[in-house]
Amino acid sequence: MSKRNFDRHIQQQIQMASSLTMVKKPKLCNISPAIPKGKSLSIQSPSAVGEQAEDVADIPLICNMSYTHFTESINFLNKDDDNNYKKSKLVDSLKKIISKYHVSHNFVNELLLILREEGLDLPKNARVLLNTPKHQSIIQINPGSYIHLGIKTMMFPILTTFISDFCNTSIIKLSLNIDGLPISKSSKACFWPILISIINNTKLSKLIIPIGIYHDKYKKPDCISEFLNPFVTEMNDLITNGFYINKQKFTFEISQIICDAPAKAFILNVKQFNADHGCNSCIEEGTFLNRMTFLGMDSELRTDKSFRENLM
Ligand SMILES: [Zn+2]
Repeated sequence: MSKRNFDRHIQQQIQMASSLTMVKKPKLCNISPAIPKGKSLSIQSPSAVGEQAEDVADIPLICNMSYTHFTESINFLNKDDDNNYKKSKLVDSLKKIISKYHVSHNFVNELLLILREEGLDLPKNARVLLNTPKHQSIIQINPGSYIHLGIKTMMFPILTTFISDFCNTSIIKLSLNIDGLPISKSSKACFWPILISIINNTKLSKLIIPIGIYHDKYKKPDCISEFLNPFVTEMNDLITNGFYINKQKFTFEISQIICDAPAKAFILNVKQFNADHGCNSCIEEGTFLNRMTFLGMDSELRTDKSFRENLM
C-alpha cells in the first residue's frame, strides 16, 4: 500500500470513528471484573474477539498487545463515555492497519504528530500506541534463544471472552503442534514455535495460539528437554491444578500432538524414520534396500523405560 493510500485509509478510519455517536456497544460475554495486573502477552485484538465472535478465522496469530491494554480496552467498551469509546475504536483501527500493512514506526510517529495537532487524543509514538511490551523474558536455549509466552497468559483473555461457550464443559482439549519453519530463503535462520489450539469448541478451533517460540540463525534446539521444559512445567501444573476464571475451574488435557516425521523424531528424542534404528515401535535394525526397510516381524518392542533411557 502506498503512503497516499495509507493516508486515505487513515482519514476514512478517523471519519468513521468521528461518526460513532450512536454505535451499539459490542456485546462482551461475562467479562471478569477482577483481572490480575502486571502480565503481558501477545494476543489478538480484544475488539475483534468481542465484535466478531463467529469469525475467528481472521484473527491474526500475533500482534502487539499487552495484557494491560486488553483490560483497558474492555474498560473502554464498558464505559458510557462516548469519547473514550471513539478513542478506543480509533486506536484499535489504527493498530489493525499498522499491523496489517507493516508500516514503519517512523511513519506512524509522524502520522500521530499530525493527528495530535488536529486535536485527536492519541499517544505520541508508535510503541505506546501498539502497546509494545517493554520487557520480554527471552532465555537462552542452546544454540538459540527462546521466549515463553505462557499458556495461562495466552488463554486467559480468550477464555474470559468466550466463557459462556464453556457452560457445558470445563475441560479444555488442546491440540499441540511443534515444527520448525524457515524464516528466510537467504539464510538458515529458523523458528520452532510451540502452538496450541482448542479443539472442543467450534468457535475457537481455528484460533492458533503461540505458547513459545525458539529462534536461531542456523539450527534447531540441541536439547529437546531444555526446549520443552517451560511448556511441560506449565502444562503439568494446568493438568494437575486447573485454572480458575470467575470461580469456574477449567481443566486442560492434550488430546493430540500433530507433527511431521522429522519433528516427531525430534520431540520423542529418537532417531529419524530412515535411520538404522528408526522404528519407534520395536528395536529391529533396518536393512538398506534402496531405502531403509525393517524386515523383522517379531523384534522386541520398545518400552517406556527404553524410551526414557534413550536406548538405541
Ligand atoms: Zn518396528
